Amino acid sequence: MGSNLGDSLRIVNQAVTALGEGVNVTAVSRWYRTKPIGYREGQPCLLEQPDFINGCVIGTTSLSPGELLEFLLRVEQSFGRVRRQKYDARTLDLDLLLYADAVIATPRLQVPHPRMTDRGFVLIPLAEIAPDWWHPLANRSVLDLAQSLTHSLCQPVPL
Ligand code: ADP
Ligand code: MG
Repeated sequence: MGSNLGDSLRIVNQAVTALGEGVNVTAVSRWYRTKPIGYREGQPCLLEQPDFINGCVIGTTSLSPGELLEFLLRVEQSFGRVRRQKYDARTLDLDLLLYADAVIATPRLQVPHPRMTDRGFVLIPLAEIAPDWWHPLANRSVLDLAQSLTHSLCQPVPL
């Protein structure tokens, strides 16, 4: 999850509680501060936005992947997220990174999350709580993916 609008640390902590309505949360990473990165003409660039607070959560759930995505989008909305444009500042972003060893590719939902493998702000908190989780497309563990990150553009810093 991530937030860079409003009282982000408070928002992400409240979001973990809100996730409890649909997910039995079993682990929460530390929170990290990350520079806001977007893409212009395919190149990563620093956006003029507040820093993000990012972290990852693991849980068990009886929701199907599609139901879980619906639930996450409802929680985002309950925190007042308004979608204006891609890479806009947001009060709360909840992404579904991995769902057991499922591979899903529909227009509405892609699992594993397609951009997770090159994002330090995803892999570094995730490796804290799920180092051995196997990425079914990369065919590597989360820890292995986190350790092979190269770019220094968005180094997450633990709070
Ligand atoms: P991002 O999180 O990449 O900045 P948004 O949160 O604005 O982008 O985009 C969310 C949209 O992406 C959702 O409406 C959802 O349908 C789609 N989506 C596809 N796969 C996933 C996923 N694994 N987790 C979250 N959203 C996803
Ligand atoms: Mg999202």
